[in-house]
Amino acid sequence: MSTRLDLTQDVGELTARIVDVESVSGDEKALADAVEEALRPLPHLTVERDGESVVARTGLGRAERVVIAGHLDTVPVAGNLPSRVEDGLLYGCGTADMKSGVAVALKLAAALPEPCRDVTYVFYDCEEIEAERNGLLRLSRTRPDLLAGDFAVLMEPTDGMIEGGCQGTLRAQVVTRGKRAHSARSWFGVNAIHAAEPVLAVLNAYRARRPVVDGLEFHEGLNAVGIGGGVAGNVIPDECVVTVNYRFAPDLSLEAAREHVSEVFDGFEVRFTDGAAAARPGLTHPVAAAFVDAVGGTPRAKLGWTDVSLFSGLGVPAVNYGPGDPNLAHQRGEFVALEKIADCERRMLDWLS
Ligand SMILES: [Zn+2]
Repeated sequence: MSTRLDLTQDVGELTARIVDVESVSGDEKALADAVEEALRPLPHLTVERDGESVVARTGLGRAERVVIAGHLDTVPVAGNLPSRVEDGLLYGCGTADMKSGVAVALKLAAALPEPCRDVTYVFYDCEEIEAERNGLLRLSRTRPDLLAGDFAVLMEPTDGMIEGGCQGTLRAQVVTRGKRAHSARSWFGVNAIHAAEPVLAVLNAYRARRPVVDGLEFHEGLNAVGIGGGVAGNVIPDECVVTVNYRFAPDLSLEAAREHVSEVFDGFEVRFTDGAAAARPGLTHPVAAAFVDAVGGTPRAKLGWTDVSLFSGLGVPAVNYGPGDPNLAHQRGEFVALEKIADCERRMLDWLS
């Protein structure tokens, strides 16, 4: 049995309706069906279905196209469904992260047959689990044409603030080597753990950059997040590995960030394990500036890594902006203020009308 979504409903009521369609990652079909069925009849939209993702686009031939995106999935339900309203707050799994944002996007899709900019609405699956299953990543590889645009708004919870771009992240192992020996005759060996001391000294002395990129101040960090070494209680160890995590601002590419880490640990063996690129906020672009005007407030830099990076990889500058409070995401007591959802809807309507 399929659930019907009524897009003429008040945005708070629509959010509650969406929250009540359970959609834990990997199990979004019912909600994706409901979203598709709600959008299909709208004559001003071209709707495409890709797995459990739904993309709907206007085709008015406007000078600019913006992308409004949100994920349909939630973390596992924690006894917090169905939703309930108390004192103007809507409680339930996914209320803040990010079905209130999805509801706003659906309202815009229905209410704006002729927006002043062409709009692509993207509702995707599997954001809350391992990156390889992410629906937006899949679309960026198989259907990048569907994600093309001049600017993107990802409606993740930001408490109604604009959070521009995101920092990148990479992990590397800095390896020191020695020579094994019996610890009773340690002078025959070379201790690799002792050799790690200068690696830690470099980290202690490291001054993190705070570069301003497209008008927003980012704040980097280079830190040890793990250390391993030792063979047995009576052996001088011949290897020690310090795992470092570099969170870097979007004025560096992933490649440049790797080069920086190699330079910082010049003379040491450095192995890169994983990494994800940063994203520029792109707030200097006119369409983004118009967005900042309409939404108000002072944009801040996004310091964590988010899917805006996938847009950036396609050459589309992107920001996070949504009604939920990010600190409530993934909590059992997750809620969103109904007033915040309505406010977010109003500002987005302003921007696109
Ligand atoms: Zn989210």
